[in-house]
Amino acid sequence: MQKFSIEKNSELGRYTIATENLQPGSYLFDELPFAVGPKARSLCCCLECYCLIDGTASGSRCEKCSWPLCNDCSKLTEFSAHKRECEVFQAAKCKFYNLPDPNVSCIQLDCITPLRVLLEREADMDRWNIEVDPMEDHRDKRFETDAWDADQQNIVGYLLGPCKLKDRGITEEIIQKVIGILEVNAFEAKTLKGDYVRCLYPKLAILSHSCIPNTTHAIHPSENFKLNVRSTIAISKGSQLYSCYTYTLNGTMDRQQHLMEGKYFQCHCERCSDPTELGTHFSSMKCRDCLYGDVDSSNPLDAEAIWKCNKCPMEIPAESIRESLKALQNEIECTNSVEFLEFSLEEYEGILHPNHYIMISMKSALIDSYGHMKSYLLAELPDILLHRKIELCEELLSILDIFEKGMSRARALMMYELHAPIVLYARSQYDIGHLTKLEYLEQLEKARRILNESREILEWEDENVCLIVISARKSQETLEKLIVSLEMEQ
Ligand SMILES: [Zn+2]
Ligand SMILES: [Zn+2]
Ligand SMILES: [Zn+2]
Ligand SMILES: [Zn+2]
Repeated sequence: MQKFSIEKNSELGRYTIATENLQPGSYLFDELPFAVGPKARSLCCCLECYCLIDGTASGSRCEKCSWPLCNDCSKLTEFSAHKRECEVFQAAKCKFYNLPDPNVSCIQLDCITPLRVLLEREADMDRWNIEVDPMEDHRDKRFETDAWDADQQNIVGYLLGPCKLKDRGITEEIIQKVIGILEVNAFEAKTLKGDYVRCLYPKLAILSHSCIPNTTHAIHPSENFKLNVRSTIAISKGSQLYSCYTYTLNGTMDRQQHLMEGKYFQCHCERCSDPTELGTHFSSMKCRDCLYGDVDSSNPLDAEAIWKCNKCPMEIPAESIRESLKALQNEIECTNSVEFLEFSLEEYEGILHPNHYIMISMKSALIDSYGHMKSYLLAELPDILLHRKIELCEELLSILDIFEKGMSRARALMMYELHAPIVLYARSQYDIGHLTKLEYLEQLEKARRILNESREILEWEDENVCLIVISARKSQETLEKLIVSLEMEQ
């Protein structure tokens, strides 16, 4: 039985509420995408498997319609993804124009995903009417943008004219609606080979947005991009279900901008309305006047609101804050060497709160380096760096515990990162006599709990693309054996 209901009101539009008390990790629903296709403004890719291919005259093509197909896919006798459009292109004699340069985005492919939605609409009018037609396309707001005119020429004109969709009863209005629906709602997914596509999931789009979501979703490319959605925390009957349409590890200013530009709305969630972002100080600057206060926006929902120190009368215009942040971000973008990141973290301590999103992004880059980068592989790390990695992972987790609470993938990945240095550090400390056997076992038990929790969440992912699922299972086995053998020794 469905554990939620779909509601509608004038303020929120469509939204969902839990119809029973939900435990963390409760399965909510799964769905196949209405359509899958290349992302807008992507490089030239195969229209069957989406791997990148040469868009110039020397690239491989479909023998039937001349549009891009990789070498392997061009030998197929039956297409799946490319089937319907191939017939349309053949019938209308619509040829692909080779690109002059393989490194430019292939705007001819921008019509493919909208075309697939339109052809699926013909094939399954019921699903279109019930699920896709009510989706938000923000026509009024898109109408005023430059993108509208570009799409009008490049997609609408092309599909109605050369592709002859007019003959199938397709109108300009419906094509613009499809383009809008895709722009506002499509999700990025990774193929089994690791290339990117966009997928349209009508049911997922009904979940309202929040910057502190209470659901998570996993996309399974090995099952035709089937998506499944679960709760991450306990949700009480009658509460709303939320997913997050932006990046939880961006600051409020960036999240607001991303949502406004891509989704055409302003978020008023609890986190966005709070200058301290729920006490994390994720966007707080340090005061340069009194040197100990935090400087926060006086109204985070207004991009132009003045920023104020919480300890002294210091005030800074929003524009200056944006400029300083931009300068800092440019500085750290030039390299991600471990030394530079550690140096910058210290250097920025006087400017940014230690939990500021720029600091957190540097800490996250360090977590990716320690244990993974050449000459910093886990087995080679000295105790001091193992300890540093543990410290960084714990810091990140304490942030994720607030922004992506409970059984979220982000927490699972961070816990997976955390378990291994705990084991190695404890072993090394035990070997040199800094830990007793009992203390060593306690640390291993701690790592086991963290790894178990991580693996349980990761089991929802497609193990064909999320290889960590398999590593987590193996690590768990190894760790169990280690603990048992140590206990036997006693
Ligand atoms: Zn292919
Ligand atoms: Zn073809
Ligand atoms: Zn928000
Ligand atoms: Zn101050």
